[in-house]
Amino acid sequence: MVSRRLPGSVPRRTLAGLYVDRTMRPRLFLFALLLLSTFSSPVWSGVVHDVRLWRAPDHTRLVFDLSGAAEHSVFSLDDPSRLVIDIRDMTLAADLGRLKLANTPISTLRSGLRNGKDLRIVLDLAEPIKPRSFPLGANDQYGDRLVIDLYDIKTESQKTIEDVIASEGFEREIVIGIDAGHGGEDPGAIAASGLHEKDVVLAISRRLKKIIDREQGFRAELIRTGDYYIPLRKRTDIARDKRVDLFVSVHADAFKNPAARGASVFALSPSGATSETARYLAERENRADLIGGAGSVRISDKDKVLAGVLLDLSMTATLNSSLDVGSEVLKQMGGIARLHKRHIEQAGFLVLKSPDIPSILVETGFISNPTESRQLASPGYQEQLAEAIFAGVRQYFYKRPPPGTWVAANKDKGDRVYVIARGDTLSGIAAEHNVSVKALLQHNGMKSTTIRVGQRIRIPST
Ligand SMILES: [Zn+2]
Repeated sequence: MVSRRLPGSVPRRTLAGLYVDRTMRPRLFLFALLLLSTFSSPVWSGVVHDVRLWRAPDHTRLVFDLSGAAEHSVFSLDDPSRLVIDIRDMTLAADLGRLKLANTPISTLRSGLRNGKDLRIVLDLAEPIKPRSFPLGANDQYGDRLVIDLYDIKTESQKTIEDVIASEGFEREIVIGIDAGHGGEDPGAIAASGLHEKDVVLAISRRLKKIIDREQGFRAELIRTGDYYIPLRKRTDIARDKRVDLFVSVHADAFKNPAARGASVFALSPSGATSETARYLAERENRADLIGGAGSVRISDKDKVLAGVLLDLSMTATLNSSLDVGSEVLKQMGGIARLHKRHIEQAGFLVLKSPDIPSILVETGFISNPTESRQLASPGYQEQLAEAIFAGVRQYFYKRPPPGTWVAANKDKGDRVYVIARGDTLSGIAAEHNVSVKALLQHNGMKSTTIRVGQRIRIPST
């Protein structure tokens, strides 16, 4: 295998053992290839029978399915910027035109035959990338593969823009992605009254968006804006496109036991579910793609080895944030709704498997429970639920604002408003916010330390 670095790197040793500069490389590379073919075994021609493209937050992955293992080389060319992939003794039977290149650094893909037997694929690049390539052997799902990763490089101009924004004091809003579950072909759970989960959760989501958009420093984006189905994996893709800081999936499910009731908040579990209900609900939700018509293939189904490692690495960090924000939301929901479990639950919900975005799933209640079903249909209760969800989200972001946001710049200026949750004490709130109980009492004109759930108190700036 011959591999080459990006132009601009220091001269390095070639196959021939010479140190060369950039301008000499293409010729030497050809020479090396010729040498290789001279000593190669009799020509055996393989076939690239499929190609897949995955866009990750920091890289684009191309996977070529090969009829057998093959030698390959990858190198970059400038003006215009290209990445060249050569695969020895190979022909192309896959349709490169089928790849969706939107949102990737690749503008076009071309292919051709070299020396009458090697496949050359040229990627025309619109963005700078750092390439990496490796072969993958066959497993039960796939045969031999060639993986090409194109890692994104932040350009100088992008950096400059961000620096200017930072230095001029433009502070961005914190973006909350609201995912109303189900939709279209998939009604979600259906109440005895005929009420559909998909309609209830869209109504709550719309209320939540209004509440968030009213708050300075925050903005909401609805993942689903009407009655249509979005595949589970696509929901997180949309959230990523909208650059959300938090993904909140809203549901109102059914349980096999109609007596089951109460709100719950879920975060992803990398291992098992924390309760039987959690396992049951996760299985239900994950079946949604079969009902609603996903029409797309998930990374997790396609290539567990490839996707798994990358996902797991970044997921651990966001999982902690998800648990933190989930606990705040659960605490606030305890003020208005009966809770199914007093702690945040964890299960393997597909919709929460976004490696880079903290994500929670809020079960606003069980639509299968006659009492809760009636409540969930009421606009007043929907509004209360939406307010409680945002109160928790707000609390979380005021504790841990992302850098560069309006909240980060302003959280210590002026008063903060704290919404009392079940289990709170005034002394606890005082300690948490680094103020004295006396200061809290004076600041809010309170005569006693008695507080009630849902009450808003102002925290003086210290
Ligand atoms: Zn649901």
